[in-house]
Amino acid sequence: MVERQLRRRGITDERVLAAMGSIPREEFLPESVRSRAYADSALPIARGQTVSQPWIVAAICQALSPGPTARLLEIGTGSGYSTAVLAEMAGVVVSVERHPDLAASATESLARLGFGNVEVLVGDGSTGLAERAPFDAIAVHAAAPAAPRTLLSQLGEGGALVAPIAAGEDREMLTLYRRRGAEIDREAISPVAFVPLIGAEGYAETP
Ligand code: SAH
Repeated sequence: MVERQLRRRGITDERVLAAMGSIPREEFLPESVRSRAYADSALPIARGQTVSQPWIVAAICQALSPGPTARLLEIGTGSGYSTAVLAEMAGVVVSVERHPDLAASATESLARLGFGNVEVLVGDGSTGLAERAPFDAIAVHAAAPAAPRTLLSQLGEGGALVAPIAAGEDREMLTLYRRRGAEIDREAISPVAFVPLIGAEGYAETP
């Protein structure tokens, strides 16, 4: 996975490659898809959600490249796999998931693997976590309709946020934002497809 799917496709950050080379992805997956843990694709988890394709997780982690003391906020814990990769790189990770059962099973997987610097909370992460702000980095794992204003306001100076932002029908652009004083720089990373961010600054839930 590391050589063929990541390094060959432009992932050069050795800390990302080391983290993804060492974390057992199958530990975060339901029994039914464990045999495909290292496939080059997204995989289904509970609640109609998906674990992102390995390259996508790597691209997000590389764009943020959190240092060993970084305080990081993640939105969309899902299986907890991306949480683990980020926790291997950052100082502290707070991750928010809207589905309580996904949050519970991610918490369990992360604890089983010994990640002590992670906290998983249940709720709508589309408006972030004002009481814990500012963050050095924010990773959003579900597609937002537009630049997530409130989340961006929770970045500290020099802080970075990566999110898939709607860019036409069924496609999103993985986008990196960085706070520089009053300005926010923006850089497109790659076209991607994600599940929607459901919440106050996301999409309405479809019945
Ligand atoms: N990073 C995950 C991928 C999760 S898919 C992994 O590696 O497994 C996106 C997740 O975002 C889903 O679990 C979905 O339930 C969650 N989500 C969607 N909208 C959300 C919101 N407003 N707040 C928190 N989580 C949300």
